[in-house]
Amino acid sequence: MKREHSETFYPGPSRIHLSAFPPKERWDDWPELDSQAWPRRKERRYQLVPTTCFNCESACGLLAYIDKDTGAIQKFEGNPENPGSRGRNCAKGPATLNQITDPDRILYPLKRAGKRGDGKWERVSWDAVLDTIAARIRNAIVEDRRAEIMYHVGRPGEDGFTERILAAWGVDGHNSHTNICSSGAREGYQLWMGLDRPSPDHANAKVILLISAHLESGHYFNPHAQRVIDGKASGAKLIVFDTRLSNTATHADFFIAPYPGSEAAILLSIANYLIQNNLYNREFVRRWWNWKEYLEQRSESAEQPRGGEIFIEPTPTNDVRSQQSAAHFVESEKEANAFAESINMSRRRRDAASDKLKFVEQNFEDFERILKQIYASYTFEFAAQESGVDAGTIEEIAKVIATAGTKLSSHNWRSVTSGVSHGWSVARALFMLNALLGAVATEGGVFPNAWNKFVPKPIHTPPHPRMWGEINWPREFPLSMHEMSFLLPHLLKDGRGKLDTYFTRVYNPVWTNPDGFSWIEALTDENLIGCHVALTPVWNETSYFADYILPMGLGPERHDIHSYETHDSQWLGFRQPVMRAARQRNGDDVRDTREVNPGEVWEENEFWMELTWRIDPDGSLGIRQFVESKKEPGQRLSVDEYYGWIFENSVPGLPEKAAAENLAPLDFMRRYGAFEIARKIGAIHEQTVPSEELGDVREDSLGRVFTRASKPASPNVVPLPSPDGDAEGRRLVGIRVDGEIKRGFPTPSGRLEFFSRTLADWGWRQYAIPTYIKSHVHPDNLEPDQTILISTFRLPIQIHTRSANAKWLNEIAHTNPLWLHTSHAAKLNLKTGDLVRVETEIGYFVVRAWVTEGIKPGIVACSHHMGRWKVHENGQKQLMATVRLEHEGDRWALKRERGAGPYESSDADTLRIWWNDVGVHQNLTFPVHPDPISGMHCWHQAVRVRKAEPTDNYGDIHVDTEKSREIYKKWLAQTRPADEHSPNGERRPYWMLRPLKPAREFYKLPEGTKPSTP
Ligand code: SF4
Repeated sequence: MKREHSETFYPGPSRIHLSAFPPKERWDDWPELDSQAWPRRKERRYQLVPTTCFNCESACGLLAYIDKDTGAIQKFEGNPENPGSRGRNCAKGPATLNQITDPDRILYPLKRAGKRGDGKWERVSWDAVLDTIAARIRNAIVEDRRAEIMYHVGRPGEDGFTERILAAWGVDGHNSHTNICSSGAREGYQLWMGLDRPSPDHANAKVILLISAHLESGHYFNPHAQRVIDGKASGAKLIVFDTRLSNTATHADFFIAPYPGSEAAILLSIANYLIQNNLYNREFVRRWWNWKEYLEQRSESAEQPRGGEIFIEPTPTNDVRSQQSAAHFVESEKEANAFAESINMSRRRRDAASDKLKFVEQNFEDFERILKQIYASYTFEFAAQESGVDAGTIEEIAKVIATAGTKLSSHNWRSVTSGVSHGWSVARALFMLNALLGAVATEGGVFPNAWNKFVPKPIHTPPHPRMWGEINWPREFPLSMHEMSFLLPHLLKDGRGKLDTYFTRVYNPVWTNPDGFSWIEALTDENLIGCHVALTPVWNETSYFADYILPMGLGPERHDIHSYETHDSQWLGFRQPVMRAARQRNGDDVRDTREVNPGEVWEENEFWMELTWRIDPDGSLGIRQFVESKKEPGQRLSVDEYYGWIFENSVPGLPEKAAAENLAPLDFMRRYGAFEIARKIGAIHEQTVPSEELGDVREDSLGRVFTRASKPASPNVVPLPSPDGDAEGRRLVGIRVDGEIKRGFPTPSGRLEFFSRTLADWGWRQYAIPTYIKSHVHPDNLEPDQTILISTFRLPIQIHTRSANAKWLNEIAHTNPLWLHTSHAAKLNLKTGDLVRVETEIGYFVVRAWVTEGIKPGIVACSHHMGRWKVHENGQKQLMATVRLEHEGDRWALKRERGAGPYESSDADTLRIWWNDVGVHQNLTFPVHPDPISGMHCWHQAVRVRKAEPTDNYGDIHVDTEKSREIYKKWLAQTRPADEHSPNGERRPYWMLRPLKPAREFYKLPEGTKPSTP
């Protein structure tokens, strides 16, 4: 075929040095040679329809190649019109085709025909399912049992759709998977900047610092990975902290393998280096840190109780803590006076009412001097002692970081922050380096995520629910990020409530979460869960314990919109059912996605709208209005109207861009799948607040400016979540910096919070500034024969649950041996392939050893994306072992009967399956470890590793769930519940993020609960 396009650069948003993308003008009719016809030159013609990948959160663009003759999807490739992924994908993107054609997928709604877990199912109609579930939910609402409805989501895929459905029902029943994923990182970032995710500008950085395996297993895998490589290609230095030699580490200029949990000690030693040598950005720190607030609270600390001890309190052997404590908090007025004199501060004001000593007018030099004292003990030698990394290497890294200026891009997600207790302190220490260098919202720096994403206003906005969900937001975790999802079985067993109707949605807690046998116990107890509805595209370990299994569409079979912080821009992606879009482009009228999906596979948006309609068919509950058409009142909203309204009314620039091509906004999005709203957002915090937003303002002593003027309606204004307003109902609009009112950051102070008054006020005063905290797996907390198991990494070609029948991925990798270092293996007399027993606090699993130099000696690791199983015939046969579950009282065992193997199906390739091993399900043997602040499940396990017993078989798992309960209670005892520590009688600081916020009055603790400080 003659090559017709020879552009060096693709002309769309990708603008990358590839000419292979089909130009968008030819997406209606694109010819390619049929590879299977070779050596004949047979041409096939395709219609190219965009959608987005649903195999991780990154939402990379995909282009479906729909054969114009057969009407079948031939393949998926990247969508060059997507500004985030720029036409590129990881292996999981193209493997979407395997999921579509999976011969074992669920195609019809199913209802259980025996006892829960018996594996007997009967086909049922969508109508019958909808009526049954709608009646249950309606009854629960009418009988004021709204707390018994819960929606538990794994992969959301869209910003806020289902939260709004729950709000329409008046139900605070949103539950997520965040606590087993990213709460640790989120907490650390939110404490600093008020937003819980970073948006690093890797491509323009001078130094890239990663605490995560971003090229393979971190977040935003592909969009970030490609920009890390762009940055490297432009000369950036790449520094990677990872206990394991990840794919990312192999690309690093500096790779260190610290002792897990010691990362904050290293980062604070680098911070100390910058501070002691005056290598930080003084002007940025002076303008944007809340140092005045910090100084002010120091003067108050003599009158405030300090937080007590917790069981994982740091006890650095070189007495860092005692030095820190002395520096953090002035213990008495006498000491305060002496200190004040010693630094010759000007004390021009005292608080006359309380006679408290105030340091609010200290100058910045005082703060700098104190800063030097606080962090002086974080020496490279101390960091080396904690981490096992050579002090000279840490110093070398510190010197490289010091050269970055405002071009330091750093990122943490999962990794250690989800591995160890107080892992959030690692993300906090990491961001401190950016905050010191002023590399915040700069080219090559790190942006707060909300500045680099766009969430459009929907067609209907229901009010906040008038209730508080006690089961998903227990009082022990007032600062958690977010719902305490993985504790659900324990909270139900505690008797804190029960569930009438429980939805799991693209979520597989029996397999994904720790302590899966406790999940099975709860899911099989009909007194705890009345009706379990599993919304899933594929069989999974949790769906076996459902009452209904409802088949939901894969990425190219459903609608969603999404926007992610892939770089300094704002873009909106559109996931759509590609066959529906193709038919509509060809002039067909498609009103229901089931018309184009395989079997009776539906999509969730239509499902939720229809269910909501049936809960309130006559509108008498006030619910129906939120899924009602605006164009045709009295009719249910369609997805075309829902998205059409958003694209026409809420996305700046899109209507104009579409009109330029003679398209309606919805048709534009159906044709291209993405829209770039703005590039180079820049430093929002430095924007001057316009005068029209400054009505009836009041300014407090810290320069926070509150206004009565309403929020601007323009969608061009970047959304800036605002913390609490003032006592008179004004909202925080900005802060005064050097005489000008700036937008600032969405924190309570409006600045970057070096000092967290939130932590101090809610019982964690000792951690109110960035600090190193020894973790639950610190050597001090391990027995001599214990080591650490790292389970937070994954192979880059598997997805938690949905890839079990992605045959191309399975062929690449299908097992998860235990990584252990050569020297460690020698001590244990182990070689690669030997069976190993790994003992946790509640049981053990048996796995094969993989001896490697690619891990820190003495630490072991096992990928968490393997070990799928099924008890009955139904299941994803290509990567699920068939097992036997044994159960006596609290004792559970899982025994493998057979692994994968060839089988007959509609796909001839299933007869070619050559692998048998599908890995081991380690998570079943992990007890719950809720971090007392972030609520993160702390994944790293203190384990004993030894050669397997002669009676052990590969894949054996034994667990005692009574021990799980004991460990749950032990960790729960470390929390500081709102009942005892809330400073204002509320359950949670209102300013902190929550996916679905109840009405403000429901933040109040019940009558009789005493706040810790009035
Ligand atoms: S990174 Fe891979 S799995 Fe994730 S959205 Fe992109 S292509 Fe899909």
